[in-house]
Amino acid sequence: MLYNIHYDVCAMVIFAFILLLIYTRKDNSKASNWLFFIFVSLGMLSAVSDIISSYYISYPERTTHFMLDFWNYFFLSVHNLMSYVCVIYVIFLIGLEQRMRPYSWVLVSLPGAASLLLIFGNPFTQQLFYYREGHLYTHGPLFFHLYALSFFNLALSIFLVLRFKKALPLPKVLSLVICVLFCVIPITIQMFRPYLLIELFFESIGLMSILFAIENEDEIRDTITGAYNRFAFIRDMELAIHTRTPLTFVTVKLFNFTYSNTTFGVQYMNHVLRDMTVWLKSQGRRTSCYVFSGGRFAIVQRGADKEQMAGLAERIRERFDLEWAYASLSVVFPAQICLVAMPDEVSTMDQLMLTIETPVGETQSHSEIVTSDTLHSYQREVLIQQKMKEALENHAFEVYYQPIWDKGSGRILCAEALVRLFDEELGAIPPDEFIPIAERNGMIMDIGSFVIEEACRFYADNHLERFGIDYLEVNLSVVQCMNHHLPGLIREILAKKGLKPQQLNLEITESAAAGNKAALEKTVRELAGYGFTLSLDDYGTGYSNYSYMFALPFKIIKIDKSILWSALDCDNQRGEFSSMILLENTVRMLRQMQYRVVAEGVETVQQKALLESLGCDYMQGYLFSKPLPSGAFLEFVRTFGK
Ligand code: C2E
Ligand code: CA
Ligand code: CA
Repeated sequence: MLYNIHYDVCAMVIFAFILLLIYTRKDNSKASNWLFFIFVSLGMLSAVSDIISSYYISYPERTTHFMLDFWNYFFLSVHNLMSYVCVIYVIFLIGLEQRMRPYSWVLVSLPGAASLLLIFGNPFTQQLFYYREGHLYTHGPLFFHLYALSFFNLALSIFLVLRFKKALPLPKVLSLVICVLFCVIPITIQMFRPYLLIELFFESIGLMSILFAIENEDEIRDTITGAYNRFAFIRDMELAIHTRTPLTFVTVKLFNFTYSNTTFGVQYMNHVLRDMTVWLKSQGRRTSCYVFSGGRFAIVQRGADKEQMAGLAERIRERFDLEWAYASLSVVFPAQICLVAMPDEVSTMDQLMLTIETPVGETQSHSEIVTSDTLHSYQREVLIQQKMKEALENHAFEVYYQPIWDKGSGRILCAEALVRLFDEELGAIPPDEFIPIAERNGMIMDIGSFVIEEACRFYADNHLERFGIDYLEVNLSVVQCMNHHLPGLIREILAKKGLKPQQLNLEITESAAAGNKAALEKTVRELAGYGFTLSLDDYGTGYSNYSYMFALPFKIIKIDKSILWSALDCDNQRGEFSSMILLENTVRMLRQMQYRVVAEGVETVQQKALLESLGCDYMQGYLFSKPLPSGAFLEFVRTFGK
């Protein structure tokens, strides 16, 4: 025997082992999985044919010329295809295939095609190999060209891996580079020592390293359903974002999953989830299904356009309105289905994960398809939540002051403190938007304390009483009022700044009463007991029980700007006659009840004149000034009326 076939035998065993592992794996739905399978199969066929052809070359007298030829050509074809498949595998692994134009495919395939041309042209050219007398196998002058073409493919693979290295985690980049080097080095050795036959052995080890580093999917599989898990989703989507691959995916979220889990039991639900996964995966050959906790799925169909994905969403909706049967129990689990297009609708990983994490609404009896717009409002809320958190940490909230004019004295009597949030990315975020979010997530306590503290500091540091500013008004949110520590907290801040309770006025919105009335009443009474003046804000917008509100110790009532504007809008157009009557009577009634009355939203001289004629005590609005940052506010009061 001239050739050492021991390495080939070992390679055959390793290839067989890898094929077995691929075969026993649950899911090989991705194109790169298939290409890896082809890659290893070609290795296996190369090893087998190399052994046979080496044997025949060594003992040509034991075979026919045809058999000798057949195994030689077979080996050369499958082995040379390996380097071509290596390039294609790398392209799919990185996710470049969707960006490749037809001519790029042609270019990439040229070396592979040239090798095949050399091989199958050999019977006519005898340039690759020929037989000397007595069937003696001999390399021809073009044999090294075959090596060169393989080298070219391997070099291209390494180039692509390194060029797009950010698309893959470092261990995967390393294992790919090692695998290619494990092909290049032994081929070089074998070029000069053809009898060693070490190529395939090293290649099999290289492929083994890929199997463990890249194709081993244990950590990216959901243990219950065997489908891809959250890690896999993040990995695949990061790749798509990085390679700018447009992609549409469908999210499926079961309504009220926790309830179903407790009602039907975890075991039952696991079966259902498994059935759902199988069904979702069966919706097309190139379908990948990712499973998340809480009965959520994401489905990607490679190569499908938006229209096909819309069709898939519709099929899913229909299926999720039908029962899932297991163990004599058949139950319908309606789901919310959403079509998300990348990069048109979402373009960052955070936005992408939000599409999965966005909670679904109340329990519904039917499945529904929603547009990604519904996710956007939630996404904005989460973004604002994040901005508020950062702003609290970095002390980035600001307080502006809007002067309030006193008709009696004709001067600026006080000012309302209004919180502001400016963000580089989002610009000015209006308090009407972020305060309700802060109320929902509890941040309002910290924001509220900051505003009170900042307003007190501003008043004390600048001795605003010297400017004729009797007090500052601070808005209190419903949630703050429900906290029984609030009065103590405000007193502490005030004491720290050496201010009197009369120098702080607290505005409470009438809708605050819609919450826990008893808690509100306790807080309000306690605050009044400490000597704070209280204003009832936004009067006329809610539907609260006025007799109840009037029983609380408010001294000032702020009529909501909408009441003024419907009587006389900012273009000085008179509104409905009834609106005017409402305004007139509101002011009159409140004054009769001994309240001091503030009108907000005064923008025109005509509105001011109207309010004066009605006997409104104080006015606030753009006519006097918009809310101003502290410095500008000081300047404003210093120069007002001069
Ligand atoms: P609000 O308490 O009714 O405050 C008055 C709002 O009307 C302010 O809006 C003010 O800028 C605006 N405004 C005053 N005069 C005029 C006018 O002539 N024309 C127009 N178009 N608008 C006028 P802003 O500052 O955007 O605040 C909106 C709401 O956010 C406030 O309504 C209040 O409910 C809430 N808010 C603001 N700051 C705070 C705060 O520190 N704490 C709490 N809990 N809520 C706050
Ligand atoms: Ca207010
Ligand atoms: Ca108001």
